Amino acid sequence: MAEDLQDYTVIKEGEAEILMNVKNQVFFNKAQVNNRDLSIAVLRTFVSKRQEEHGAMLSKRKKSAEKASEKDASGPAVEEASTESALDNGKSNGECEVHEEISQDEPCSVSEEPALSASGLRALRYAREVEGIGKVVALDNDKASVEACQKNIKFNGSVAISKVESHLADARVYMLTHPKEFDVVDLDPYGSPSVFLDSAVQSVVDGGMLMCTATDMAVLCGGNGEVCYSKYGSYPLRGKYCHEMALRILLASIESHANRYKRYIVPVLSVQMNFYVRVFVRVYTSASAMKNTPLKLSYVYQCIGCDSYHLQPIGRTMSKGSSVRYLPGFGPIVPQECSDCGKKYNMGGPIWSAPIHDQEWVTSVLEGVKSMKDQYPAYDRISAVLTTISEELPDVPLFLSLHNLCATLKCTSPSAVIFRSAVINAGYRISGTHVNPLGLKSDAPMDVIWDIMRCWVAVCLSVLHLFLLWDMV
Ligand SMILES: [Zn+2]
Repeated sequence: MAEDLQDYTVIKEGEAEILMNVKNQVFFNKAQVNNRDLSIAVLRTFVSKRQEEHGAMLSKRKKSAEKASEKDASGPAVEEASTESALDNGKSNGECEVHEEISQDEPCSVSEEPALSASGLRALRYAREVEGIGKVVALDNDKASVEACQKNIKFNGSVAISKVESHLADARVYMLTHPKEFDVVDLDPYGSPSVFLDSAVQSVVDGGMLMCTATDMAVLCGGNGEVCYSKYGSYPLRGKYCHEMALRILLASIESHANRYKRYIVPVLSVQMNFYVRVFVRVYTSASAMKNTPLKLSYVYQCIGCDSYHLQPIGRTMSKGSSVRYLPGFGPIVPQECSDCGKKYNMGGPIWSAPIHDQEWVTSVLEGVKSMKDQYPAYDRISAVLTTISEELPDVPLFLSLHNLCATLKCTSPSAVIFRSAVINAGYRISGTHVNPLGLKSDAPMDVIWDIMRCWVAVCLSVLHLFLLWDMV
């Protein structure tokens, strides 16, 4: 190797160093440092949350064991889980086993899937920087990449050698042959992750995490709607909100794959940055919780004449006493013609319309990042993104652009401050979005938004009149 070394430059990111062959360059993307930093921040939070959950589980079990021994004489307790299916009972057993496997001392395992593990930089950073990670498996189906990765593992010394494995493999086959085995699966392919989703959702342990990047933004943002439909099972719309819609299409697609195996997802963080989207979701198994999936999905009606859009939920529930019935959603939620401008609607989706972040997680990740500021090369960027995300309205899908509203009305734009206070005065909530600095999320219905805009136009006109009068005096 020594004679080769002059052909390499050393690139250091975080705690990891990789050798970069000058002649035969393995794909190294500097912009991905944001992605890697954010993933490390989420991983650190995940490790500590898992430990908390594990501790809580143990004490709960201990308590119930104590109760059981106390109550032995008092007859059997009411079977709480009687309405749940057999699978759910299986699930709770399964969960216990998993928790036992991942004892506090036993570190988490991470599988870095097709990663274009290329240099192995991501795997090396995970292994070296995140405390509590026991094993990282880096997979790539490109021989040169795997060789480069193995070289870099050695170059990073004993910790890396003991924790990181690199395999030449089709990640799909590897994941399918390791069901419910990894605490974290990180999909970071070049392009669309769609072909990996089905095996990835099966490879994560219950309560584990799936991290997934999609860089095919042109597809997810409606450049070729039919391609998006074939890859993700959802039709994109070309609205200002398309990047958030991309996140929601990816989440809906992951949920759909998870559902096939009686599993469901809970998103903890969903980010659009640079040229990609990345989601962090936890995966659980439960046939009864899975019934809620249609409540978390919606079609989107986007008016082709103005900025109005409306969400059409796929399912609804009806409560009768203590029982809940699952029913198809009431529709259509919009008339044939837009009530604001009279034009027709395009229909997109289905998208994930439930929250895309868990605000408690976002706070934890952000606090973690702030407390280890100098460990994150992309600190400024990721702390800014996480701060904006922490201020997003969690329960409002998609957003409006003030500029577009004004372009539609052919008026000058009110300042964001004026618009925000008008919405709040009307009794609704409003926030920004990390996806677009000009985007505004609000739970105000479209007709309220248009009323506010018409008032603004009227104010502009009356100001104009005042000026004219002033001129005449
Ligand atoms: Zn319209």
